[in-house]
Amino acid sequence: MKKVGVLALQGAFQAHIERLVSLGAAAHPIRFRSELDGIDALVMPGGESTTMSLLLGANDLVAPLSDLIGDGLPVFGTCAGMILLASDILDGRDDQIAFNALPISVRRNGYGRQLASFEADLQITGIEHEENPFRAVFIRAPKVESVGAGLEVLANVDGDPVMVRLGPVWATAFHPELTDDLRVHAAFLKSL
Ligand code: GLN
Repeated sequence: MKKVGVLALQGAFQAHIERLVSLGAAAHPIRFRSELDGIDALVMPGGESTTMSLLLGANDLVAPLSDLIGDGLPVFGTCAGMILLASDILDGRDDQIAFNALPISVRRNGYGRQLASFEADLQITGIEHEENPFRAVFIRAPKVESVGAGLEVLANVDGDPVMVRLGPVWATAFHPELTDDLRVHAAFLKSL
């Protein structure tokens, strides 16, 4: 059984844990360094990336997480989690953390006020759709404004990447944990 840590400092971590458990993984919350021992993968949830950055610092998690990511730990970031994994953050706080695990430039809240929350039907590379697109929920989502070499874009909305992957590091601008559709989590688990 795969052991997946879910960063649980703030935000929508509980829903991730429930989705992962229902897919047969052993998922547990990560608040402290000791809880990282022995994990096969890590999920960084949605929430507020600036607050998460402060709490990561306060709980001494920045260096251990950087080391694990550098060593190739599979990581899946959603929304604020995508921002944390980016190499470049636009409209962020100067002191917010970018783990530099994905070569993307993301603009916080980049879909603007009118589109602060929206849903979209996605075709996602590598996921079986048949007649059934993935209904994705976006909440004050980051917009991927540019991507670097080697990055795979797995889904987009109006030409903007909303799901990306670089080897073991995956990210979505949307919240797959807030719907009952388990296909995105299942694809990540299958890759482990
Ligand atoms: N706008 C949030 C941020 O900057 C992300 C929103 C979300 O995770 N739903 O962190």
